[in-house]
Formats: sequence, C-alpha cells, structure tokens
Amino acid sequence: MEAKRICVQGTVQGVGFRPFVYRLAHEHTIMGWVLNGDSGVEIHAEGEPDKLQSFLYQLEHAPPPAAVIASLSVNSIPLQKFETFSIKRSQHKAQPTVRVSPDLAVCEACQKELVDQNDLRFGYPYTNCTNCGPRYSIILGLPYDRPLTTMKEWRLCATCLSEYSNPLDRRFHAQPVACPNCGPKYYLKSKDSFIRNEALAIQETVKLLKEGKILALKGLGGYHLACNARNPKAVKELRQRKFRKEKPFALMASTIEVAQTIANISSDSQELLESTARPIVLLTSKVTLEAVSPDNHDLGIMLPYTPLHHLLFNAGAPDCLVMTSANRSSEPIAYKDAEALESLDAIADAFLIGERPIARRVDDSITRVNPFGSSILRRARGYAPASVSNLPARRPILALGADLKSSITLVVKGQAFVSQHLGDLDHYEALKAFKETLHDLVNMYEVDLSKTTVVHDKHPYYYSSQYALDLPAKKQLSVQHHRAHVASVLAERGSFDKRVLGLAFDGTGYGDDKAIWGGEFFVGSLQEGFERVAHLRYAKLVGGDAAAKYPIQAAAGFLNDLEPQNNFNQAPFAFPKRYQKAAKLAHKDIQTFQTTSMGRLFDAVAALLGYTKTNSFEGQAAIWLEHLARSSSSSTYYPFPFENNELDYRPLLQCLSNERKAGKDTSELARAFHNSLSRSIREACIQLTKQHQLDTVVLSGGVFQNNLLLELVKADLKQSNMNIWVNHTVPANDGGISLGQAALACFI
Ligand code: ZN
Ligand code: ZN
Ligand code: FE
Repeated sequence: MEAKRICVQGTVQGVGFRPFVYRLAHEHTIMGWVLNGDSGVEIHAEGEPDKLQSFLYQLEHAPPPAAVIASLSVNSIPLQKFETFSIKRSQHKAQPTVRVSPDLAVCEACQKELVDQNDLRFGYPYTNCTNCGPRYSIILGLPYDRPLTTMKEWRLCATCLSEYSNPLDRRFHAQPVACPNCGPKYYLKSKDSFIRNEALAIQETVKLLKEGKILALKGLGGYHLACNARNPKAVKELRQRKFRKEKPFALMASTIEVAQTIANISSDSQELLESTARPIVLLTSKVTLEAVSPDNHDLGIMLPYTPLHHLLFNAGAPDCLVMTSANRSSEPIAYKDAEALESLDAIADAFLIGERPIARRVDDSITRVNPFGSSILRRARGYAPASVSNLPARRPILALGADLKSSITLVVKGQAFVSQHLGDLDHYEALKAFKETLHDLVNMYEVDLSKTTVVHDKHPYYYSSQYALDLPAKKQLSVQHHRAHVASVLAERGSFDKRVLGLAFDGTGYGDDKAIWGGEFFVGSLQEGFERVAHLRYAKLVGGDAAAKYPIQAAAGFLNDLEPQNNFNQAPFAFPKRYQKAAKLAHKDIQTFQTTSMGRLFDAVAALLGYTKTNSFEGQAAIWLEHLARSSSSSTYYPFPFENNELDYRPLLQCLSNERKAGKDTSELARAFHNSLSRSIREACIQLTKQHQLDTVVLSGGVFQNNLLLELVKADLKQSNMNIWVNHTVPANDGGISLGQAALACFI
C-alpha cells in the first residue's frame, strides 16, 4: 500500500469534482478523503500502487465535462491506514483563489429528465445537476455554497435534500438543485393576462411566438427578446421597437441540424456551438433571413442552453428564434425583473419571468473560428469569470480596461480572472455594470484595494481611467492602449520574456504623443516593455473619435493628403455634404486631430467604394468592406509601401480612387485593398523581424477580427517561417485590454 497527497487546481469547484473523485475512489478501492480547499481540491489517497496509478490517470484524463484542471500535483506521504473514502467539509482559511465556475449549459442527463413524464423534474425549467446549470450568475459570495447563492430563499424538499447529500448522486452538492415541489417557477405576464401555471405559461409563450409576437424571456444571465426569425414582419417590428437599425440579431436554432440548414458549419464551429459554454458562433449564412442580419453574410447562431429553451422548442416554438439581449444598443443585458418590466414595456408583448433571481448580468458570448483557431469576440456567459492565465504578480492587480467593450481583470495570487463583457461605458447602464462588477470581483476574492495595484488606460478622459484614480490603491499605473493589446496575446500564452514584433491595429487608442493611434508596430516583451518601432502614416481626423460614426468624415482626413484634382462629391463617389465640411476643416486644421488609426483607414476605403452612410454600430463599415471583398477572388494589389518605418496609404488610396473612377467593380477593389494591406504587413514584418532579430509576430486589436485579412496574412507570411500569435481566450478587441494591462503591470 502507498499513500499520495494530490492537489488539483483550476475550475474544480461547483463542477461535480468531489463526487467524481469519490466515485473514482470507490471504483479503485482507494481509501482516504477529498475536500475543497481555498486553492483547489485536495485528495488523500491510499491504495495498491497499480490501482493508485490508474486512479491518478482517470483523475487527470477523464474529469467531469465542466472541470478544467490547470495543475495537478502528486506527493508521496506516510500511510495513515484509512478504512473508508470520504468527502470532508469545505475549508475556508485564507483568501479564496478557488475559481468560480462559469455558467454551464444543461447536460444530457438533465435534458432526458425534462422530457420523461415519469420523472420528478418532467417539464421543470430549473432542472440542473453538478454537471450543468448556473454558477457565476447566481453566486452572491464564496465559497460556492447554497446560502451564498440566489437560491438561498428556497428550502430543499426531502427528495432534493437526499440527492444533494448523497455522494453517489448526480446532484450531490449541486447548489442550485430544485424540483417542481420546492423550487422557483416561471410565469407569463402580459397586459391582459397572467398565467401562473408553468406548463400553460410555456404553451402560451409558444403560441405567441408562432403568432409573430415579441417575448421577453428571463434566461441565465439576463433577459432576452425573442421572436420568430423566419417571420420578417416580427423581426422588423423588433428592430423598430428596439431602435436597432442594422446591427445583426443573434439567433437560437432548436438543434444543430436546424442550424446546419441556415449556415455553413465546419467541424470546428460545431465544436464551439456544442461546447458547454454554448456561445453564439458567427457562421456564414446559407439562407436569407430578412432583417436579421442586413448587408452581412454572417449569422450569429447559438444552440439552446437552458432547460427553458428546450421546453419551448419541445412545445413547438419556431425552430429558429431571434434571441437578442434585452437592452438598448451597447448597454449590458437587463437582468432584474422590475427593471426589465419597466424598460421593455414598450418592446415586449409578453414576459416569461422566472422566480430565481440573477445575481449579476452575463451576456451571451460571441465566438468565431478564424484561420488560427477559435476566437472570442465577446467574452461573457460560459467563459467569465474563469481564470485565463497565470501572471507573476507580486500583489493583487486590478486592471480596468478600456471604455469601449469594457472588461475588468483581477489578478489574485497570480491567477488572472477576467470579468464578463460590460459594454460601452459611455452608456449609463454599462457604467453601472462596470462599477458593480469591479466591486463584485474585489469582494468575491476578498481583495483589499489599498494593497492592490490599480491599472488603467493612458487615456486621461476615459471613465475607467478617472474611476481608477478615485480608488484607494497601493499603486496606480497607466498602460498605453496598443501595448496592452499586444500584451494580451502574450499573457494568454504565459510568455513573459519572449521578444516579439507586435502589431496592434484598431480603431482608436490614446497614443504616447496624444494622437489617436491604431496602426502600431512594437518590439519588446512583457518583461522589458514595448517600444513603438513603426506605424501607419499620420492622417488628419476631423472630430477625433466622433469620426468613427461617419466613414466619409474619416475619408476627408485621409484623402486630404492626395492630389487635389480628385473630386469626391461627384459620381461615382457622390459623397454627401458632411464630407465637404470635414474636408474644409481638415484643410484648415480646425477640430482636427492626428491619427494612425487602421480602423479609420478601413472607413475611408469603405467610403471610397460606396459606403457613404452613417455607421449604426461600431465597425459596421469595415464589416461591410470585408463582405464586399469576399465576393471577389481577385489577387490584384496596389502599392502600399512600408518605408522609413511608416506605412504610406497615399498611393493605395489614389489607386483605389482612380480605379473606381474608371468603373472597376467595387468588390474587386475591396479585395485588392485587403490584398494590399496583407502584402504590406508582410513587408513590414519581414523588415522589422530581421532588423530586431525576432521570429514571432503578434497580431491584436479589433482590425484583426477581420477573417479575410487573417487568411491573407497567414498565407502571405507562410514562406517566412515566422510564428504568428493571435488572441484565443480574450477578445482581440478592447475586451482584451484589461488582461494586457494586468500583464504589463506585473513588470512595471
Ligand atoms: Zn445536468
Ligand atoms: Zn425538491
Ligand atoms: Fe483597441
């Protein structure tokens, strides 16, 4: 006989890990105990050497579906001759660093119970077990135990209690366990009816959806607005009521088979769709669903992830629903019943409300497969607040991110926890969510702010920067925006001393020289910091960041540099009046800023190729341009020289404008623009990596969410043998900034 002490770290609490260990011990006749400690699961295991070995193998290789093992250590210790294997009570000693599990999609075993007429939980929308169900969205504090969740009001009935207390049961210590006899319920509320009976409420909801009505449905991390995606009248009505002009709506397909009829789904995309996080996955559409995703071939699709979703589809709801966060654009999802009822009153025809409170708002996550693997565009439900990397932090670090696509990173004992997506801090609701989440994270991990390093963006007028400066902190730091983008990729990989060439291309960020940066090349590492070595040629930008709304306003600055004989208010360009005004201001340098923004260059090119309207959401013109380019396979490119550490856009814009005047097809021109950018990225990368003796290129920033550009860059750099690193666990957009800030703060 031998004895081992095993320590497992990672997402191992609230995911059925201890019962799994218990069952495994029984199978292998192992004696000893398992318990939840402050830094993970601890196991004392005694048994015969070969049995111990196979126990350890299973432990590491077949953990419960939602568990993520970050590290597993095994030490030999003296035999204590236990005669049983037991689950010991949770210990709470020091500051907790046990990871809070993200919310999980309903598992197959629970789904079976839902449709089994003889099961206690037949048709019950709050069915869950240790392998599935809510976590982060119901947690009020740590350790994760029922009295510290929003389920504390409901007392377990005898059946639920026996399941909860039985180590061999699937519901052993499933904190939100409930059944129709003891748990919360759903009801339907509309202007003229109130249906208390749950089954009838679900039936009526289905009927309303079929009739083309708009429903507010309470979900895991907030309310959704739902309607039949195949009913254009309903979808248009929803757009009108929500004041949402063109931004695509997310869809929920009843099954993977239904999803396959509306979009092309690769095996990688299917894996994402079916993962326990159940994110929205961006896919190329096969069919046109009118008004769902105007001017955009991509559809954001997700599969059902709560028992309620399955119950609705089982009861005959339309097989493809629009499922959009119930909020106004750029605001976080509504999650409190009273607020939802009030703010959605003019939008929803009826409310399907569940009684279980939501502790915090968590939006649906958005993901996509890109040429380098999977990527996250919005990191929230199913991912947050999991730890994304281990950082060598000397003390706790709180990084407040950027104002657009806000997220917060808290580093405790070296583990970097990244909050859910919080929205655009320009909006009151998002700012509120930002403050709530900040204090929420700090309280949950019992962090003392006065002993913490607080990091913010270098932008002095960001809300997040100003808020940071008002916090009590041991140390205040600011990090330049684009350095944080590059750092986020290295932080994900735990590459602290690796020197790289980092490209940060995005719409906007405050530069060292106070200009609006966004087309930057850096050399350095997390440890030594990043030196800016090259950039897009400076252009004028009338109105600064406000210009992001008007592609022609960006064009006015970039085109200001071209030969004067261009006349852009005439055909084929026909720029509206705003252009003329902006061009004059640019010429006289009034209200004009300097910019190296690649995002604004995309806007200027989109304008040249016919996109003269207003952006109704961030990045709209760039997405339009990418889709336009995709309909051409041209390999033409125009000069976009990289000289003296500067990318000069002037020859490129001049060629595009000449060719447009000559009547060339705009999709070919859009494609040629992408080709040219990719070529000059290659040229710059080859020059700079040679000059600085580097073998690795890092790409980050919102521009690198453009899959066509990534495909081209990957192909163009193939010959060069360079490593190309991109973001995978945090977004390449500003949602990843807080992680980059935290990583750099470890070395300042
Ligand atoms: Zn389950
Ligand atoms: Zn019960
Ligand atoms: Fe950015």
